[in-house]
Amino acid sequence: MNIHEYQAKALLRDYGAPVSDGRAVTKADEAKTAAGELDGPLWVVKAQIHAGGRGKGSFKEADAGDKGGVRLAKTVEEAAAEARRMLGRTLVTKQTGPAGKQVNRIYIEDGSGISRELYLALLVDRKTSRVAYVASTEGGMDIEEVAEKTPEKILTFSVDPAAGYQPYHGRRIAFMLGLEGQQVKQCVRLMGILYQMFVDKDMSMLEINPLIVTDKGDLKCLDAKMSFDSNALYRHSDIAALRDETEEDPKELEASKFDLNYVALDGEIGCMVNGAGLAMATMDIIKLYGAEPANFLDVGGGATKEKVTEAFKIITSDPNVKGILVNIFGGIMRCDVIAEGVVTAVKDTGLSVPLVVRLEGTNVEKGKEIINNSGLNVIAADDLKDGAEKIVRAVKG
Ligand code: ADP
Ligand code: MG
Repeated sequence: MNIHEYQAKALLRDYGAPVSDGRAVTKADEAKTAAGELDGPLWVVKAQIHAGGRGKGSFKEADAGDKGGVRLAKTVEEAAAEARRMLGRTLVTKQTGPAGKQVNRIYIEDGSGISRELYLALLVDRKTSRVAYVASTEGGMDIEEVAEKTPEKILTFSVDPAAGYQPYHGRRIAFMLGLEGQQVKQCVRLMGILYQMFVDKDMSMLEINPLIVTDKGDLKCLDAKMSFDSNALYRHSDIAALRDETEEDPKELEASKFDLNYVALDGEIGCMVNGAGLAMATMDIIKLYGAEPANFLDVGGGATKEKVTEAFKIITSDPNVKGILVNIFGGIMRCDVIAEGVVTAVKDTGLSVPLVVRLEGTNVEKGKEIINNSGLNVIAADDLKDGAEKIVRAVKG
């Protein structure tokens, strides 16, 4: 689960990390009061969406102006005007995809004088199964690009969980970042705080980009991005309460209510599959035959007819879906249950795209019988290859 910058900064503040004072607002009328509560003389007005690259992003609507999602203001009135221009508009960044994201909230914070912009992140390193630091002198930039073009400018190391964070970890980062004097001390302290938060709250990623050296020579977290392990949310009600469902894909949100493993993708072929491995193989073979999957969907082992019906409805609600491939290998999952779910869903919602069904395994004959007697216009397939070929041909001609 991801949270907004303003929420991440509140958490940083609670732990004693250096952040600017700021206020979040959802209405333009509140912006002026909020800005008035801050010190100035410079205000920064920041769109709150679950995506980075806001500063270099652009709005779809011309009346939002062309200054991106992070704007400077020299007066309270100017700050309020910038908030008004961004609220309700659609911000497109490198991370949102072409559809962009609607800005429903604005964070107004004190502007900082910046002398250097650095990069800092903590994440779970799957190779070592440990928490790792990533630090770079190239802050404010796309870190993927830095990693590709100048990997020597990135320092990565992991922390032994038994010993935990040690001051020498912080000094190592400070040295690499070229910090001096009081900044080294501040860095050692900040890195300890970040490690503590990361572990306490079961984060999967914590990114400060940029971490800055202010014009007065102090370290400060100017941006903050946090992701949490969703499987651990049950023991962090404070974090779970920060969830913003408006930022999530509505289809994924619906799927999560029915406990379906569903991830929306950009392609045209909807897939209903059981088992994560088979789901991935199905996506691969669709690509092999020249089309793109519209989703990943694993209905799971013990899916009920209702769950399958819901899954099918989620797939057909996606306007990008031009055809559907049902690929079920019934082991624990029974083919007749899948067949009943598909038939019920199609009767409820109708079917306007080609549907290829490949069933194999437990109760396969019963499943095929249900489909064949349903009167649905279904293309039957014998195996995975046959199914993929047939659906791609049906969609692409
Ligand atoms: P994003 O990463 O989504 O573009 P950031 O919060 O990193 O958003 O802001 C982009 C840039 O805007 C920063 O690299 C920094 O140069 C500037 N900026 C952001 N917040 C402030 C602030 N409070 N004071 C001064 N400059 C800021
Ligand atoms: Mg940033």
